[in-house]
Amino acid sequence: MLWDNHMHSNFSGDSDAEPIDMIKVAKLKRLRGITFTDHLDLDYPKEFGFFDLDLESYYPTQHELALSESNENFTVLTGLEVGIQPHIVDKCREAVNAFPYDFIIGSTHLVDKWDPYFESFWERDSEDILLKRYYECILENITAFTDFDTLGHLDYAFRYAPSEQKKHNTHKPYADIIDAILERIVKLDKSLEINTAAFRKGMNAPNPAPSIIKRYHELGGKLITIGADAHTPSDVAADFNRLPDLLKDCGFREFVVYKNRKPECYPI
Ligand SMILES: [Zn+2]
Ligand SMILES: [Zn+2]
Repeated sequence: MLWDNHMHSNFSGDSDAEPIDMIKVAKLKRLRGITFTDHLDLDYPKEFGFFDLDLESYYPTQHELALSESNENFTVLTGLEVGIQPHIVDKCREAVNAFPYDFIIGSTHLVDKWDPYFESFWERDSEDILLKRYYECILENITAFTDFDTLGHLDYAFRYAPSEQKKHNTHKPYADIIDAILERIVKLDKSLEINTAAFRKGMNAPNPAPSIIKRYHELGGKLITIGADAHTPSDVAADFNRLPDLLKDCGFREFVVYKNRKPECYPI
């Protein structure tokens, strides 16, 4: 009985999905529950798109839907995926505390205001330098902002790395800085997210890669969340069938679901 803890609806700038359609698919797939985590990317560069979330209507609308669609076998929760940048942490803190969200994903989508999703990101320097800078930004972000529950899709930038070799080598060349990120997550008692969208982007592993998940476990990490990062109904819980073996191999037999910002354990 799995739970998809990362998904977007038409409250997000990059999704047209009706929330009710995500719920219908989740019920068909016999999930135990889902958590909506629409994008809040404050000060996202306009040339890359629009990610302004209507915060005043998001929580009340989704929460009402959650109450009407939840029953003893299926639960809908409401969260946010916050795109962290060091200069907006005060606004992020204010936003996540303005409503009683169940769950906050802390993600790094921008590296010095450039999004790795776009080719323009990769044209500015060598892949090695850009990828190292990507990890440095994550560490800076989670040093400046700690009001989140799980670290979203660590090694996300690698999904979009132009060379195949880089795409699948997300750990070794950057081991020191990844250790610093993971140690901080453990110390702060946060979760590490396992995001299966990477499979849909041509990677052979989730974000982060198993070598990083194993390292997190070695460093004392106990809490993981799982999410497919669906932006359409058909991607709800996509590739979740790959997770049980993969996560057990990395040392995990449970994942957590945050309700009222508190973790509850579920078997994988
Ligand atoms: Zn994200
Ligand atoms: Zn997302």
